[in-house]
Amino acid sequence: MAAAVAAGFIPPALVLIILAATEAVSIAWVVAALVLGAVAAGWSTLAVARVWASRAERIETVAASLEKHEPPPHLIPDERDAMGRAERRLLDAADAVADEIESLAEQRDEFEAILRGMTEAVVVTGSRGEVVLLNAPARRMFALSPDANYNGRDFVELCRDPRLQEFVARATASGGGQVTSAEIALQTPAPRHVSASGAPVRRRSGAGGAAWVFVFHDITQLKSYETQRADFVANLTHEIRTPLSALYGYAETLIRGVDDPETARRFLGIIEHQARRLSRLIDDLISLSDLERGLMPLKLDDLDAGTVLKDAEELMREQARREGVELPLDCPGNLPLIRGDRDRLHQVMVNLLDNAIKYTPRGGSVVVSARAATSAPPESRPGVELIVSDTGEGIPAADIPRLTERFYRVDRARSRELGGTGLGLAIVKHIVQLHGGSLRIESRLREGTTVTVWIPAAAASVPSAATGTSGS
Ligand code: ADP
Repeated sequence: MAAAVAAGFIPPALVLIILAATEAVSIAWVVAALVLGAVAAGWSTLAVARVWASRAERIETVAASLEKHEPPPHLIPDERDAMGRAERRLLDAADAVADEIESLAEQRDEFEAILRGMTEAVVVTGSRGEVVLLNAPARRMFALSPDANYNGRDFVELCRDPRLQEFVARATASGGGQVTSAEIALQTPAPRHVSASGAPVRRRSGAGGAAWVFVFHDITQLKSYETQRADFVANLTHEIRTPLSALYGYAETLIRGVDDPETARRFLGIIEHQARRLSRLIDDLISLSDLERGLMPLKLDDLDAGTVLKDAEELMREQARREGVELPLDCPGNLPLIRGDRDRLHQVMVNLLDNAIKYTPRGGSVVVSARAATSAPPESRPGVELIVSDTGEGIPAADIPRLTERFYRVDRARSRELGGTGLGLAIVKHIVQLHGGSLRIESRLREGTTVTVWIPAAAASVPSAATGTSGS
């Protein structure tokens, strides 16, 4: 700007100097004109420079606000000239950019909140398979550190499981913008079933950033339910088919006619036995299904544990006598009352006694007892243990954790021969759980089995006055 002013000032100055040299104008006038011209040029240069400096400052302020992703301060520009109007446009554009940045930040916060709230594992990778984003469930699923920064690391290397690596390779190779889905049985870092899907991210430019989104849903539990249901149906079919074919076969033979009355009676006996077995199976199935579906709500009362044991022992006494098994009852008189459903607890004790008598050889004994006991810490609630302890054949340690599964038996043929349904302990477990109690099975092969049921004490528990000790 100074150069422009100088360029405008120098030609008239030269003309004045030439006029002074030819003595057309007096030197004094020339000097006065030159000084006045220089002062006017300097003054106007300064004024223009100040205006420009303030405009530059305003533009700087707008740029600084944009750098900080903030809306620019609204310094009103002088819009009388082109520069002022350009400033106004810049300010409006900066406002629009600031709004856009704010809405993008909001969208990012929402997106992050959604990712955090998802139970599915989400992994976003770049075009070369490098991690762009991992949510917390993904870190858990692939046993990664909860707070390490994995951005830029190769996802295939991080996930380690070959089946998952193969899925990622297939999804990224497919191209064409479609979603690739599959159910994968992972082995690493832990066995689990996942439903996986991988989809390309639609992008405006081919530059870096997100290229693929992978979502993994843990369906291990679902698979296990499916397997349990399929096993249950298979077991049930098997359990029903065996007595039915016997019924069918013997009935057919009898219809065709059996000459020997003794044989006919024996066949009828088998038919009766199998019919009873079917009926027991159906009764147990109904009990279990009602318990599982909550159709058998407990009728809770404050109960004397001694009475519960005595009632069950009385019912089973005859069966024990027939099998040649001793059935002593040992119940102290000062037990706290328990909070329970009399009929359901009776069902528990009868099932346990039935098992103990069935699996104890002639000459052995089954002791029914009770004692006050607190539950395991940290709850340590007061309660009573109802114990059935036999001197029978015992149960292999490996089978104990599975005994309460429906239809699980240590020796299937033997259980059937003894009239078992394979549902007794499953029913026991359900009833005990409904009472808020616990079930413990301890056993040693060829030495015997002890089943302990812990039931919480009644709130207003008073020591029981019953002296329910007897033997048989
Ligand atoms: P079951 O009708 O076959 O007795 P349960 O569910 O009551 O079915 O028991 C499951 C399995 O647990 C039995 O088949 C048996 O193998 C084993 N079992 C239960 N109680 C005893 C016991 N007191 N002694 C030995 N084995 C037992």
